[in-house]
Amino acid sequence: MPTHAIELDHVSYTYPSTGIGTSPVAALQDITLQVDQSTKLGILGPNGGGKSTLIKLILGILKPTAGKIHVLGESPAAARKAGLVGYLPQHIQSHRDWPLSVQQVVELGCTSKLKPWQRLSAQDQQAIRSAIEFVEMQELIDRPIAALSGGQLQRVMIARAIACQPKLLILDEPTVGVDIAGQQRFGNLINTLHRELDLTIVVVTHDMRAIAAVADRVACLSRTLHFHDSPDGLSPAVLAQVFAHDVAGVFGEIHIDAHRAQDCDDPEHTQTDCGCPHTDQSPTSDGGEQ
Ligand code: ADP
Ligand code: MG
Repeated sequence: MPTHAIELDHVSYTYPSTGIGTSPVAALQDITLQVDQSTKLGILGPNGGGKSTLIKLILGILKPTAGKIHVLGESPAAARKAGLVGYLPQHIQSHRDWPLSVQQVVELGCTSKLKPWQRLSAQDQQAIRSAIEFVEMQELIDRPIAALSGGQLQRVMIARAIACQPKLLILDEPTVGVDIAGQQRFGNLINTLHRELDLTIVVVTHDMRAIAAVADRVACLSRTLHFHDSPDGLSPAVLAQVFAHDVAGVFGEIHIDAHRAQDCDDPEHTQTDCGCPHTDQSPTSDGGEQ
């Protein structure tokens, strides 16, 4: 039994040039990361930071240009083929126009491992029923997915991802297009899945709230890995560094020196009315509080 659900050893990935006048894109550089089994890992990073590329490498859809990857002790492709990995892709809301019912979409989670001439076994059918019940969609199994809310569609796609009874569940930007109530429900569902099915869960997102709702470890990714620890250790300085690329895209290249109010030693920030959050008059925000 492998101890790590995912092991990345000095992994890099560069998209090749797509033609004359286009350059290769170095999406990931020298990523070393070990994810213990049963972890709930959040991977946080800006748009274009390489999150989806990392997932495609873990799923075996792309092959690293350097380094090695193991998923549950196997190659990514072998782990996927063995049904060990469930996957919720990015942009699920764009799959709304699939002319399929809830039941049919969840069945797809099992059919991908079948040969063309094979049919779903009784065990597969039971796993599909359980997955639908898990996400509490059993009352709507015949409803076309086009008629679902954003949160309901997300739950159906999660059922599809767990229908093959994976050991590792990977979710790419799961909370995009889901309202606040749906996001809370998502957090509860992921925590229940983790507890009851003993899954390793990887949630990739640029949304801090999704990380806070589900992750017990967090890795910050912006081409390279900036941080890998418990979410409590995420400091504003790390976040500023990780999202600097996003900010620079809007404002041009800038340097950010962010820090927590309680770590602030700039006397100007302890003055009243400087307009920054550090001027809060509460006794704990005078810059000297440890
Ligand atoms: P994220 O999911 O964090 O938004 P991606 O992994 O999608 O980031 O993209 C990382 C970088 O790779 C970006 O600069 C993106 O433009 C580039 N990229 C993604 N897919 C391709 C592709 N198929 N061909 C070339 N470049 C790509
Ligand atoms: Mg992405």
